[in-house]
Amino acid sequence: MFDKILIANRGEIALRVLRACKELGIATVAVHSTADEDAMHVRLADESVCIGPPPAKDSYLNIPALLAACEITGADAVHPGYGFLSENARFAEILAEHNVHFIGPRPEHIRLMGDKIAAKRAAARLGIPTVPGSAGGIGSDEEARRLAGDIGFPVMVKAAAGGGGRGMKVIRTAADLPSALAAARAEAKAGFGDDTLYLEKYLERPRHIEIQVLGDGKGRAIHLGERDCSLQRRHQKVWEEGPSPALNAPARDAIGDTVARAMREIKYLGVGTVEFLYDDGAFHFIEMNTRIQVEHPVTEMITDIDLVLEQIRLAADNDLQLAQDGVKFHGHAIECRINAENAVSFRPSPGKIIHYHPPGGLGVRVDSAVYHGYAIPPFYDSLVGKLIVHGKTRGECLMRLRRALDEFVIDGVETNLPLFRALAQEKDIIDGDYHIHWLEEFLGRGALQP
Ligand code: ADP
Repeated sequence: MFDKILIANRGEIALRVLRACKELGIATVAVHSTADEDAMHVRLADESVCIGPPPAKDSYLNIPALLAACEITGADAVHPGYGFLSENARFAEILAEHNVHFIGPRPEHIRLMGDKIAAKRAAARLGIPTVPGSAGGIGSDEEARRLAGDIGFPVMVKAAAGGGGRGMKVIRTAADLPSALAAARAEAKAGFGDDTLYLEKYLERPRHIEIQVLGDGKGRAIHLGERDCSLQRRHQKVWEEGPSPALNAPARDAIGDTVARAMREIKYLGVGTVEFLYDDGAFHFIEMNTRIQVEHPVTEMITDIDLVLEQIRLAADNDLQLAQDGVKFHGHAIECRINAENAVSFRPSPGKIIHYHPPGGLGVRVDSAVYHGYAIPPFYDSLVGKLIVHGKTRGECLMRLRRALDEFVIDGVETNLPLFRALAQEKDIIDGDYHIHWLEEFLGRGALQP
């Protein structure tokens, strides 16, 4: 096992990792930018190192500074959390060159899944169904027009290096192709430094369902069921739940087994999520994330498995102690991503929290790093924390969620709590009857008033 883990992240996920380290008896090193001196993960860690000024590129993405922090503190492993360097294969290699463990998959798998075209090809080869689309990157507009004709409109153009819901455009007719391609190319180049694009059939009303996996890197792998992340805004998840209201046990077992088999075949190491669009009873692979995800607590609540702790164990010992038939699903969990933003305009609302009262009680979990008097800096994402609620049934879970949302007080900044309060009362949500465009349609109707 590791002696000391450096947590190369901030906010709630830094605290989440720190908690797992504490339970395992591993010493922790927090790193922080000058904007995060007062952050809770810095206060609670055994040691902390300032790694640079506020912009992420100068601090949380600053590899030389992180290496120096490992060196100074003697950390023998780095947990990257999510975002920042968590899917940077080169970072994992550089750490290895300096005899520091990267808590994540092998660089080859990060690289494979980081290229979404290569990932789709690999998925198809491994027997995982994919969204129909171009076999590779697209060249000229003329070629794109031909491919789109073959696939059938509407199509979606996506960036091979994409992430975070950026670089995607829906194209409904051939006439819209040139301008959409030019816009997507520019966005991909600016956002990811790579303007390779590919085309996919645009699915009109699918659900986003993803499968959580764990692998030991030696050919053992299991799945921990699914999360339904269909409630999205601008392709970004807002509300996640498990199990999916759309799946039954045989469907879950079938897709879970397909994914676990694929992970065994590639000898995947660590935690990962294989993402699908689920349409008309069929699964279509879109991508794989080779890291812990924001919504991992949903799975933890319905399996009682601590994913971050397992992730650390797997990185240290390459030993998967869990067996597939030992994974038991119980009850239902819902996660709400609480952001400091205006609930109607979605404008970020950084600033000082003057009153903070998180909800509690049976089945209620809040993963957050904020506190009374904490000033949310304007430099990073607006996630304040996650409210995760568990119940024996989906109905009980919703009941508890409404109660917990009523109790939650965050004053001093605007938050999207009003959005969740409204969602938890909506008939379609209560019925579990929604798809990936449902939330934008709901917002478009002006259902939430300023
Ligand atoms: P990113 O890596 O940027 O998150 P993904 O490929 O995971 O991108 O897609 C994010 C979201 O975009 C999906 O959850 C879904 O809502 C939407 N999306 C992606 N591909 C398609 C598609 N072919 N048809 C319809 N929606 C899609």
